[in-house]
Amino acid sequence: MNIPRTSYPRIVIIGGGFAGISLAKKLSKQEVQVVLLDKHNYHTFQPLLYQVSTGGLEPDSIAYPIRKILKDFPNFHFRLAHVDEIETTNNKIIADIGELKYDYLVIASGSKTNYFGNETIKANSMAMKTIPQSLNLRSLILENFEEALLTSDLHERNALMNFVIVGGGPTGIELAGALAEIKKGILPKDYPDLDTRLAQIHVIQSSDCILKGMSDKASQKAEDFLEKLGVNVWKNVRVTNYDGKTVTTNSDLTFETATLIWAAGVMGATIKGLDAADLMTRGNRLLVNEFNQVKGFSNVFAVGDIACMVNEEFPEGLPMMAQPAIQQGEQLGENLLRFIEQKPMKPFVYKDKGAMATIGRNKAVVDLKNFKFQGVFAWYVWMFVHLFFLIGFRNRMVVFVNWVYNYIRFDREARLIIRPFKKKLKS
Ligand SMILES: Cc1cc2nc3c(=O)[nH]c(=O)nc-3n(C[C@H](O)[C@H](O)[C@H](O)COP(=O)(O)OP(=O)(O)OC[C@H]3O[C@@H](n4cnc5c(N)ncnc54)[C@H](O)[C@@H]3O)c2cc1C
Repeated sequence: MNIPRTSYPRIVIIGGGFAGISLAKKLSKQEVQVVLLDKHNYHTFQPLLYQVSTGGLEPDSIAYPIRKILKDFPNFHFRLAHVDEIETTNNKIIADIGELKYDYLVIASGSKTNYFGNETIKANSMAMKTIPQSLNLRSLILENFEEALLTSDLHERNALMNFVIVGGGPTGIELAGALAEIKKGILPKDYPDLDTRLAQIHVIQSSDCILKGMSDKASQKAEDFLEKLGVNVWKNVRVTNYDGKTVTTNSDLTFETATLIWAAGVMGATIKGLDAADLMTRGNRLLVNEFNQVKGFSNVFAVGDIACMVNEEFPEGLPMMAQPAIQQGEQLGENLLRFIEQKPMKPFVYKDKGAMATIGRNKAVVDLKNFKFQGVFAWYVWMFVHLFFLIGFRNRMVVFVNWVYNYIRFDREARLIIRPFKKKLKS
């Protein structure tokens, strides 16, 4: 990889997401060599992916070049690489661009979509975990409407205009809200010769409430907001299959749609060599102790979504959200320096800053530790928090200007089919 060995200990970080970047920043200007590897040369702000999928934002405004984030850090190296394997016995990682020895390894590879073993759903549905996937979804949504214009078969036309979202978590409901706003504000203007009132948006949730990790009040209010927007929420329904046309469920319910969006779960993005069953918990997350050390290793750490840190409050591990990832990255930065200096490390304590979700214009739900609120004020708080955590002044400005413009004009200008998308269906 053409990275010189220096007298400093080498810390290799796999993944430039929230956890990897906050760790790398913490290690900047320290007497360590930091090598960050990521299969993308940019950091993705995943909470706003749904806005890219629905034409509200350009992808560039929620991505940021990793090299630019870390450009002023001495002893820092970035390599665009997909890490394929870890050899812990040799302290070595193997990537598509070569091999690299480490003194300390940090896995910050995040998570990937979990299809719970259903290969047909995986092949035929749309995911929204990366920018390319969001762009595919954006294209497909728009292509469906173009195609709906061309067909005289009413059944086919309706299926092209129906959207089924599986998963009533923040991703699912935010996307549903955005689609409902497009249906109301944009489709009638763009497709005057289509009866877009027939377009349907369904959210299917296997349990008895949406936004499961949030308060009952937030869950109920989010459902009310969705209902007002004309979204159909189906609870206690589990999707069993999708052949590219029909969604079948564990009940009599079926849905005809050309677009099934799978937002029903994620699992750890594990890497070969560090994926033995005894190292992982449910959802393929690596078991770590309170210092983020992977079970059984002293120089291998994991942070963010891939790490499962269990404590009394979170018996199934910390939530797979941005805040635990950022906080763990920061704390591990401090702990690694202590560990290298042979000082005792500090146990990680998660500061729960709450959770929030937006369901559309003027509609959001916010759960803070001692204060829960919903509606317009929550929506402003949601916008402020998301702008604050976006990386880069330009991105913040672009997103802010877009939001103001979209708000005033009831518009989403990025509804462009730049890269047409075609599904290869599997039966
Ligand atoms: C659509 C969506 C909406 C979300 N909304 C919210 C929200 O509103 N609030 C919230 O708190 N959280 C939200 N989340 C969750 C949040 O984004 C994650 O919890 C967070 O990104 C986890 O950070 P991480 O650093 O662990 O992983 P990531 O941010 O996923 O970063 C992992 C990095 O590792 C890289 N990588 C993975 N495998 C390899 C490999 N083998 N080789 C090289 N590089 C690799 C990836 O390219 C990526 O850059 C959302 C997630 C999604 C998908």
